[in-house]
Amino acid sequence: MKIDIDKSSLEMTEWTCCACGCVQWMPTDHNDSLRRSHKTFYCVNGHSQHYPKKTPIEEVEEKLMNEYSKNAQLESRIKKLEKERTQIVDLTTVLKDIKESQNAIRSFHANQPQKSKSKSFLKRIFSNHS
Ligand SMILES: [Zn+2]
Repeated sequence: MKIDIDKSSLEMTEWTCCACGCVQWMPTDHNDSLRRSHKTFYCVNGHSQHYPKKTPIEEVEEKLMNEYSKNAQLESRIKKLEKERTQIVDLTTVLKDIKESQNAIRSFHANQPQKSKSKSFLKRIFSNHS
């Protein structure tokens, strides 16, 4: 059986074994696939190889994931700060109510006639001396 291969479309990539230095060739598509997958492959002398370096797409994906993570952290912080802000507004309202109550009490006492106190004071004084 004869298989026809269109060799003009078969692009090859040269690579060198990092263990023995043997220069070899593999189809560029397969080499690209190995770079993306980081899977182990072997030189003709049996030395295992793999591409540890991240591809540009992996680097961009990693940066994107880092940005997503930072964004999630910032959203969480914003929610926490908004909750604290609401609590502060609530406390401010409570403090305002307390101050208004204190002012009302002061005003009430300030408007109370002092005569009754004075009269009873004077009565006590005069009853002791009479
Ligand atoms: Zn080798």
